[in-house]
Amino acid sequence: MHNSPQNSRDTSGRCCAICGGKFGLIRYYCWRTALCSKKCVDRLKKRREADRKWICWLRAA
Ligand SMILES: [Zn+2]
Repeated sequence: MHNSPQNSRDTSGRCCAICGGKFGLIRYYCWRTALCSKKCVDRLKKRREADRKWICWLRAA
């Protein structure tokens, strides 16, 4: 399960999973998640990296 509680609110494909804003003409996709801008792509990537660090930390502990 990879659902994060923050993403499960009202982001059923209509708005950006990061900022919750509506999509413009272009959608960006990262990790099968639709995002509104490159800024949000960067934020998602950073969040994913942080998640992976957390998982490593939890496994090590
Ligand atoms: Zn966004």
